[in-house]
Amino acid sequence: MRVALAVGCSALAVAGCGGEPVGSATSHASPGSSSLLPCAPRVVALDPGHNPVRIGSFDATTGVAQIDYPNGAEDGNVFAVAQQVAATLRGRGYRVVLLKRSPRESVSYRERVSRAEQAGAAIAVSIHTSPGVNAVFPQRVGLYRTGMGADGQPRRVVFTNPATAASSQRYAAAMAQARSKAEGHRVVVRDNDFGGRAPLWAGNIPVVSLLAVNTPWVYNEFGPAGGSGGSTPVPAAALSAYARGISDGVATALPRNCS
Ligand SMILES: [Zn+2]
Repeated sequence: MRVALAVGCSALAVAGCGGEPVGSATSHASPGSSSLLPCAPRVVALDPGHNPVRIGSFDATTGVAQIDYPNGAEDGNVFAVAQQVAATLRGRGYRVVLLKRSPRESVSYRERVSRAEQAGAAIAVSIHTSPGVNAVFPQRVGLYRTGMGADGQPRRVVFTNPATAASSQRYAAAMAQARSKAEGHRVVVRDNDFGGRAPLWAGNIPVVSLLAVNTPWVYNEFGPAGGSGGSTPVPAAALSAYARGISDGVATALPRNCS
């Protein structure tokens, strides 16, 4: 069964549709100057890694199975990266929300997406590690997940919002370029592949990105030379390079063009 996820930006009271500046304007413009734009903070949502306990439920809106699980060292590693990215971006004038508030908080994909929407995020960034994988996964129209629904019938959920997908792909390209430079290896933009990973549904987009119909989502995997990542701890210097790349990627994707 095909489930349409097309929801126009205007259909929801969600700030940040299309990646435009959100939040109330602050008055950084000089008095008497009409050429300076008011300086609205860009809202950036950071989504660090896996859930601390195994969870599995069917999303009430789409019917997709949202299964998550702890993954050893990855969870602490990517939370530290998220904290470093948050500090850097706040220093550059962005407002940052963490979609998982501590490494021990249990929070479903739907709840992460809701938190990003409620914050008016212009971009959301998932942060993961995996041995040998240096990639950024964007949203694209037509990407999907498929599997057995709660009713025991096959189900297919497809990403269909072209505006969100276009922003996600633009941001993913900027992220891959910035990460390549910071990490010193090639980071590619591509689709994921969840085939053969039961009980996860098959398909080619992370569930959290699939659910985020109106929030441009950029999903990162990092696996430095030496084979660390995932449940194998990543050295601190490599995690710092990852954090620098993500921070620079956000700043390139969504520059704060105000005074
Ligand atoms: Zn992961």
